[in-house]
Amino acid sequence: MVNNIMLIDLTFLWSFLILLAIGIVLGILIFLAVKFFTVKEDPRVADVEKMLPNANCGACGYPGCRGFAEALIKGKETKVSKCRVGKEATTYDPIIAYLNAHPNTDGSKINISK
Ligand code: SF4
Repeated sequence: MVNNIMLIDLTFLWSFLILLAIGIVLGILIFLAVKFFTVKEDPRVADVEKMLPNANCGACGYPGCRGFAEALIKGKETKVSKCRVGKEATTYDPIIAYLNAHPNTDGSKINISK
């Protein structure tokens, strides 16, 4: 009887230790994956996207406003007015002012106009 109780206790202990070890290993793997595989995005993309009309209509030739914002930041597009839904005072001017105030990390300005 005493041996059976000891056996049950050891089984429980081993189960707990194995699950704890698996949890620790998976936690370390998740930490390493986040550390090495995280894609760092330019925060200006999200800021410019918020300034666009967010109709996601595709009239600019991109699948949505985020794609157009990325193109503006990367210099693939130089005309903000390619956003057909946008208005000069409420869309184009604030984006141009924002991008002039937030140059690239090397200090170069983004070539952008209406
Ligand atoms: S045209 Fe303007 S509103 Fe439409 S998807 Fe392009 S950026 Fe967004």
